[in-house]
Amino acid sequence: MSDTFTTVGILGGGQLARMLAISGAPLGLRFLVLDNAPDACASQFVPMVLGDYTDEKALEDFVRQIDVATFDFENVPAESAAWLMERKPVYPKPRALAVAQDRLAEKTLFTEQGIPVPPFVDVTSRESLIAAVDVVGLPCIMKTRRLGYDGKGQFRIKSLADVDAAWSALGAQADRTGLIVEGFVDFDRELSVVGVRSASGEFRTWPLTENWHVDGVLSASLAPALVSDELATTAYKYARKLAEALDYVGVFALELFCKGDTLLANELAPRVHNSGHWTIEGAETSQFENHLRAVIERPLGSTACVGVSCMLNWISELPDANPILSVPGGHWHDYGKISRSGRKVGHATLRRDTVRELVSALEQVGVELNRMPQVASVLARLSEY
Ligand code: AMP
Repeated sequence: MSDTFTTVGILGGGQLARMLAISGAPLGLRFLVLDNAPDACASQFVPMVLGDYTDEKALEDFVRQIDVATFDFENVPAESAAWLMERKPVYPKPRALAVAQDRLAEKTLFTEQGIPVPPFVDVTSRESLIAAVDVVGLPCIMKTRRLGYDGKGQFRIKSLADVDAAWSALGAQADRTGLIVEGFVDFDRELSVVGVRSASGEFRTWPLTENWHVDGVLSASLAPALVSDELATTAYKYARKLAEALDYVGVFALELFCKGDTLLANELAPRVHNSGHWTIEGAETSQFENHLRAVIERPLGSTACVGVSCMLNWISELPDANPILSVPGGHWHDYGKISRSGRKVGHATLRRDTVRELVSALEQVGVELNRMPQVASVLARLSEY
């Protein structure tokens, strides 16, 4: 199919690279992963260059064999991305990556684009932390500006008495990653928009997704989110503004807090996203396929929903697959990783035509897998409809 881009290079060989490769096979694509972990899970069936993102020899070996580069990991050093861009097309472009890597740059962009955010202040010292808490108010959260993900590199400050503990926990990061303090949002729900933009500027979003996190890590997603059309339209508008401002190419996710009728932007993930995994079975074209279509400069596919989907994340270890495999519309994804505490090792998607059918599938697997706490919030939400 693709006579221009036949080999897609992916920086990072985790589950996102693995799912990109799976979805790229029907497009006739080949893949090459760059990762410094010999057991990176994509390497089970994708050839790999073993090396660090800053290792010029590895980068040279990688770039020589690919036609276009993309990312499974957003914290690739900006210099490496820029080095690659001088040699081969890189999507998304390194500038988008640089903005999304830094919570301060990201929130500044949101504000410039008229997208509401929780109050935020840059923190450089213990004294500036106290001043920042005064500005954003209590409770608030201190986060590392860079290299934080899945709730890591965060400290909640409930009262002024927590400031010393927060500084002891993260103060040493002030010079390395930078720090930011932001107001704690007492949200009703968390939502995400997964969007895609092509090199020629064509833009689409999948239907809004509703997400539940446990300890800062995604636990479950429901799509389409059960929210008003107005709210969804606002979310899509924000996503489009950001994609255009960054001249973005590929798939990205915008994470949002929803409080009443207001949406506040939390962060932009410049890659395919965990909250979009349901699109593999629950949409006409998955986020993985559309990311590749954008990257190889081909027309985008329809992002329309096919029924109603719930994605359940498997953290640390996989449960028994059989209850998922035996329920109608149940789909299993094992990332081929060794179990480790806090690690994303797989997910399941339940896709049904109606909310009623999805409720019954969720109840069944929730009981059989002893996972009722994980599915309870999704069931509670579905029961409102
Ligand atoms: P993040 O790494 O910024 O995506 O944060 C991970 C999770 O922590 C989010 O999905 C929320 O559940 C929670 N969280 C992060 N920032 C805030 C905030 N400002 N207010 C309330 N909850 C937050």
